[in-house]
Amino acid sequence: MLNLVLFGPPGAGKGTQSEKLIAYYQLVHISTGDIFRAHIKNHTALGQQVSQLITDGKLVPDAITIAMLEEEVKQNPQAKGFIFDGFPRTVTQAEALDAFLTSKNQQITAVIALDVTQEELTNRIAERKKLTNRPDDDAEKLKKRIDEYFTKTIQVLPYYEAQGKLDKVNGIGEIDTIFADLCKVIDSL
Ligand code: AMP
Repeated sequence: MLNLVLFGPPGAGKGTQSEKLIAYYQLVHISTGDIFRAHIKNHTALGQQVSQLITDGKLVPDAITIAMLEEEVKQNPQAKGFIFDGFPRTVTQAEALDAFLTSKNQQITAVIALDVTQEELTNRIAERKKLTNRPDDDAEKLKKRIDEYFTKTIQVLPYYEAQGKLDKVNGIGEIDTIFADLCKVIDSL
């Protein structure tokens, strides 16, 4: 199985590249942000629980996020592999993912971090805001999300680096060029 974590700050292009990668490698895409947004849209109990946190750009507590992620994996028993997008965002989540996959005789194959400058991120999210109207793409909320990334989420990188599983790809440039660079890394695994 090919189990990839696509890693990077808000606006790095994880969603865009995940869509291309799942089509090419026939993987199941699990974006915790997308799943949370679907819960909010459908007014589920979980959606109500996390709505304010997400609007404020804060991380959802680990226990809630991990349980939701595991449920999503279990619902795809035929998957050839997964792309985890926006998960794990804390070391606790990374440890839980490892333990969960180990219990299924699987593991993370690689973590690919998209490298993008802070200036590029802010510009991209301003553009995305015009198209999607995500409330957490507002300037102040976005600042909080980028803070969460640089204080908590970034700590996940040394965790995977220590396992020899971390690769980096330049996330600035043409979408197809970045995709080709990702494929090069994946094909060499
Ligand atoms: P995203 O679409 O990945 O940018 O996620 C949108 C929001 O969902 C984040 O700002 C968090 O509030 C929440 N979220 C998504 N994934 C996670 C996660 N792995 N851990 C905690 N909160 C998350």
